[in-house]
Amino acid sequence: MIKIKLFLCPDCDDIVKLRTEIIRTCYCGHSSGVYEKDGLHATIGGKAIPLGFKNSGLWFALQNRPTSGQGICFEAFVIPKICDTVTKGRLAGESGLVGNCLLKKEPKLARK
Ligand SMILES: [Zn+2]
Repeated sequence: MIKIKLFLCPDCDDIVKLRTEIIRTCYCGHSSGVYEKDGLHATIGGKAIPLGFKNSGLWFALQNRPTSGQGICFEAFVIPKICDTVTKGRLAGESGLVGNCLLKKEPKLARK
């Protein structure tokens, strides 16, 4: 089963999807995260709270998106504090090595 990981920043309420080998940071810069090369294990930093959902549930909801009315729910969850696939590390604003990954900072896009 494929799962997608994201993180929530409790300071700015951003929810950011993790990407492989590219550190992604929330709007305020207090939370960050990155997938390792295997696309399963992840490292989060700062105040990031990891979230997950089942890919199949999201795709079902997308494929069955109604024209009007209520959308289809899909299951999301807060990843436990202790989890085999998520490690708490120091990432916010940092570049370096995590596992076998050479991390690259995501280019900062201008926000309007
Ligand atoms: Zn933030």
